Amino acid sequence: MGLFSKFSKNIGIDLGTANTLVCSEEGIILREPSVVAVNSLTSEVLAVGEEAKAMIGKTPSHIVAVRPLRDGVIADFGYAEIMLRYFLEKANTSKGIFKPISKPRIAIGVPSGITEVERRAVREAAENAGAGTVYLLDEPMAAAIGAGLAVAEPIGSMIVDIGGGTTEVAVISLSGVVISESIRIAGDELNSSIIVYMKKVYNLSIGETTAENIKIKLGSAFKISDESDEDQMEVRGLNLLNGLPRTVIVNRAEIREAMVEPLTSIVESVKRTLERIPPELAADIYDRGIVIAGGGALLKGLDEMIAHETEVPVHIADDPLSCVVLGAGRILTDKTLRRVLELTTTNHAHLV
Ligand code: ADP
Ligand code: MG
Repeated sequence: MGLFSKFSKNIGIDLGTANTLVCSEEGIILREPSVVAVNSLTSEVLAVGEEAKAMIGKTPSHIVAVRPLRDGVIADFGYAEIMLRYFLEKANTSKGIFKPISKPRIAIGVPSGITEVERRAVREAAENAGAGTVYLLDEPMAAAIGAGLAVAEPIGSMIVDIGGGTTEVAVISLSGVVISESIRIAGDELNSSIIVYMKKVYNLSIGETTAENIKIKLGSAFKISDESDEDQMEVRGLNLLNGLPRTVIVNRAEIREAMVEPLTSIVESVKRTLERIPPELAADIYDRGIVIAGGGALLKGLDEMIAHETEVPVHIADDPLSCVVLGAGRILTDKTLRRVLELTTTNHAHLV
C-alpha cells in the first residue's frame, strides 16, 4: 500500500455481448456498444464502441462491424482484447480513474459460457491495460449483486439476465451459483426473428438496426392491457421482389407473433432451471420471485409472460442495463461479498 494507496481504486467492468460498461467507485463512467469497426481488407481496427457502431452502413463496404463477444463466446479474441484495452484507456484518460502505477483491482463480469482460455485472455488484456488484481465474475452473479439480491444469505435467489447474445439463468445462495444455464438466445435473436417475419410476411428486407428499433418501440412479449389498434409503426425496407424501397405498417400483435419462438426458448430455460432447484431453495424462489435483468428485461410484458408461464412472481431489476457493472464494482468494495469474490474462480455455468 503506502505510496500508491491514494490512487488505488476499484473498477467494475461489464464485458457484455452487446454493451460494455465501466464503473469506478463514483459510478458508471463508460457505456458503449461492444463493437469494433474493422477494415476487412487489412484487418485493421478503425474505431471502437459508439464510434464504430456509427460508422457501420455509412462507410465503404469493406468496413465491417465486428462484435467480438456476439454469441457469448469470444469469437475473435484479438478484437476483444483491443476493445477492452481501448475502453479501459478511454475511461482512464477521460476521467482519470486510476493511475496505471496504482494497479487498480478490476472485477469483470463475463458471459458464463466463455472458456478457460478466453478467461485467461480477458485477464491478460486487463492486466496489460494496467490492472493489478483481476477478478472474473460470472455475469449472473454480478447481475444479482447489482440488482440488490441477498447473494450472501442462506436464501435462494433467482436471476435471469437477458442480454444481446445470451440469456443466463441462475439460482444463487450463500455466495455461490447453485445451478445455472446459459442459452444463446436473447436480444439479437429477437431482432433476427423480426427480420425473418418482415421477409416472410411482407417480402421486406430490413437491417438489424431497424429490427432492433421495432423491438424497442413496438415489441412486447405479452398482450398488454392498454393495447390498441394505434400501436403500430411504419417500417422502411427494400422490397425483395423488385429491390425498391418500400414502407409497410406493422402492429404490436404482429411483432409479438414474430418473436414467439425465441421468447418461448427463454421461458423454457427459466422453467428448466426452476425444475432443477433443490427443494430447500425452491420455497424461497416461489416466495421472493424471479428477478430479470439485462436489456432484454426492458421488453414490454416479458415479466408478465415469465410470471404467467412459470406461476412465479417476476420483478424487473432497477436499471437492468447497469446491474452487471454495478455488481462488479460492488463486489470489490462490499466486505459482506468477500466470500463471493473467493468463490468466483471456481464457478462454472452449465452450458446447454
Ligand atoms: P449484453 O449484456 O449482452 O451486452 P445488454 O444487457 O446490454 O446485453 O442488453 C442488450 C440487449 O437489450 C439488446 O439486444 C437490445 O436490443 C436489448 N434492449 C435494450 N433496450 C431494450 C428495450 N427497451 N426493449 C427491448 N429490448 C431492449
Ligand atoms: Mg449483460
